[in-house]
Parts: sequence; structure tokens; C-alpha cells
Amino acid sequence: MIAGMDPHLLPYAERQAPRYTSYPSAPHFSADVDGALYQSWLGAIPENAALSLYLHIPYCKQLCWYCGCNTYLTRGRDIPDFVTTLMTEIDLVASAVGSHNVSEIHWGGGTPNILSPREFLRLQHHIAFWFDLAPALSHSIELDPRHVTRALVATYAQAGVNRASLGLQDLNPHVQMAMGRVQPYAQVVEAVAMLREAGMHDLSFDLMYGLPQQTDHDIASTIRLATDLAPNRIALFGYAHAPWLKRRQRMIDTDALPNAAARFEQAELARAILRDLGYESIGLDHFAKPDDALAKAVRARTLHRNFQGYVPSNAGALIGFGPSAISRLTAGYTQNIPAVRTWQRIVESGRLPIMRGHTQSADDTRREAIIEALMCDLAVDLASFGGQAAFPEAMKALAPLAQDGLVEINGDVVRVPPNMRPFCRLVASAFDAYANSETQHSEAI
Ligand code: SF4
Repeated sequence: MIAGMDPHLLPYAERQAPRYTSYPSAPHFSADVDGALYQSWLGAIPENAALSLYLHIPYCKQLCWYCGCNTYLTRGRDIPDFVTTLMTEIDLVASAVGSHNVSEIHWGGGTPNILSPREFLRLQHHIAFWFDLAPALSHSIELDPRHVTRALVATYAQAGVNRASLGLQDLNPHVQMAMGRVQPYAQVVEAVAMLREAGMHDLSFDLMYGLPQQTDHDIASTIRLATDLAPNRIALFGYAHAPWLKRRQRMIDTDALPNAAARFEQAELARAILRDLGYESIGLDHFAKPDDALAKAVRARTLHRNFQGYVPSNAGALIGFGPSAISRLTAGYTQNIPAVRTWQRIVESGRLPIMRGHTQSADDTRREAIIEALMCDLAVDLASFGGQAAFPEAMKALAPLAQDGLVEINGDVVRVPPNMRPFCRLVASAFDAYANSETQHSEAI
């Protein structure tokens, strides 16, 4: 049984904070970074740096109302041209980077399993043509369980995909109707069975709280049904209602959304059930079995955070391909143009399709490390960054949070107590030099 939210915490739960999959967060990127600068950054990647590649497939067969991703509806006619352009973008980037070892490949979207087996293999072979794939390659893909087929699963196995992440969100029909994504549990069971039969045993499920019509009972039954399928990892996200950014979210009945206190209780209920089922908490919102790479990374303190969420180690450079994809190099961040047709036109003209980015200053780099430590380890020792005295504005912002128990400050060590884990984005935001009231983010919980 979860106790209700302490009323003095409510104002904190209602505050907004970035998700900190980057620092600065993407809304603070600017047009100062263009394709020419990105090209020079790519050329400066050290020869021995391992690369992590992200391929963004922006298409879906249906658009779910709750979705905040950069996605487009298609009946499939656009896909062959899209694949051709993606291969051209890989050519452009690979020519600038030169031959490198690739330690990670991640296919995200959108719906990567909208690609046919032939299209997927064309892209995979193209990557293998340009780059050296590490023998212990971490190769993962996001899948819509409604569109998993035996032919696709066999293709992934052939290509060495070794982790699949399935979007489940909520498994109750009335919640699925209210969120605009109907997905019977039987389809999920069948997709998981196909993946396991093909030898893919590392499975991750995405679940959500804060959805319209969703009750504590719905959360509990979803977790029980999901964990019956024994995934090694679970990511538990709070639904971020931001219809000013995503028009499709206007379909969602705002009156059916839980308030901040109910969201907090749902998140805590989910956390308690998952803990009882043997899953360890990873950072803010992930859970893993003790033998999973993420749980091991927490113990070894090698956990990192990037646009894919939590990862067990840090590659030398993360390179994103496809519309809206973000790249992280030592010098800074870049983001591709999100509109597919514009992205296509720029790539086909032989230029890198960069819309915006950010050059990291020395101050950005140290704040990024502090925020990442808080998001991964729930603690940071400021002694490595000049001590408390180097961050007077952050310490001032943390003082009321410390008074209310959201954070503990002992000398230079700033720590989020385990029971205050849901507030670690707020604690991290104290170190965010770009935080301002004009940028709207999602609720802190
Ligand atoms: S939730 Fe997945 S399938 Fe639905 S619109 Fe978003 S990316 Fe597409």
C-alpha cells in the first residue's frame, strides 16, 4: 500500500523540468551550429573512439494520441525513398568521420519495424560497409508489438540485433481507448514469443503512468501482465501532456488526466510493485533485473544517460541519422531537420541536414557531468567541479529543496534520498544555467 503524497511536496510535483537526456536540453540549441560545423566536428572524432549510431525511422502505421515523438503517418509508399536518403546520409557522415569501430546501434522512431526485411537489411549492410562493427556490438531496436512478424524477427536475428524494446504503455482496454492506441495483450504475448523463439532474450518494455482514465488498479494489472512475460528491463515514463507542442495530444480528454498528486502515487505504486518483483531501480525511471547490464552499470557506477535513456557505458561519440535525430560529439550537439521532405532535399543535395545545435563551453561540460551524475547515481560530489562555492546560484536554488527533504547536502556532496528519486530532475535543474520560465517542459513527475 502506498501512502498518499505528503502535501508539502505537491508544489514541487507541479513544477516543470527537462528530462535531461542532454545538457543543455534541446530547446536551448541554436541555429549557430550548421552542417559545415558538424562536418568539422565529425572529422575531429579521435580514430580510437567507438561510435554509437542512432537511426530514426519517423514513420508509423497509426498515430497514437499520447505520442510526443517526431513521427508521420504512412501507408508505406514513402519508405523506399526514405531508405535511399538515409543511406545517402550515412555516406555523407561516414565520409567525414572515416573508418571507426561501432560499439552500439539503436533503431528508434517512430516504428522501426515499419521497414520491410529487405529495407532493414539494406541499411544494416550499408552501415557494415562503412564502419567496423564491434564483435560485442550492442544492437537494439524499438518495436511496435502490433506489427512484429516472423519474417522481421528472423531478419533481426540474422542482422545480430540482440535487444528489443516494446512499447506496451498500459494493457487495459479502457485506457488504451482513451490514449488512442488499442493493442490487445494477446498481440504482445505473440510478439514476445516470436522474439524469444528467434533467440532474442534481452527484452525491454516501455510502460506509462499519468494516462487518461488510468487508475492505480490499471497500473498494477499492467505491471503484472507485463512482468509475466519476464522482460529484463522496464522503462516507466510519465505521460507528458504538451498539446502546445504535439497537436495530436488535443485528442486526449484533459479532464481524464490524473493530477500531480495522483501521478506521484501512480509512479510510487509502480516502483513498489516492480521492486517486490525483483527489479532494481535505475536512475529516474528505469528498472532492471539484477543480472541486466544496466543494473551492473549502477553497481559499477558506469551508468550514463543519453537520448536513448539510460545506457550501461559511454561511447566516444553518438551519431544520429534521419529526420530530427540528435548527435552528441565532444564539441557539442547537433539536431537534424525534423521535416522529412526538407531533410531529404538537403541530404540529396550532398549536405549534412543540420537544423540547430550547441557548442559545449567548459561550463556546459562540467554542468552536464553534474546533471548526468544526479540523473544516474542520484548523487554528485562537487569537489571534482570546484566545490559548492563554484555554484552559488545552484546552492541557493537547492536550499528550500534541502529544507523540505528532497535533497541532502553534506559538504560538497549533493544527494537525492532514494524516496525522493522522482524529484531528481528538479534537483538537477538547480545546476541548469539555461533554465528559464519561457521554455515549457513536462511536469517534474
Ligand atoms: S507511440 Fe509509437 S506507434 Fe504510436 S505514434 Fe508514437 S512512435 Fe508511432
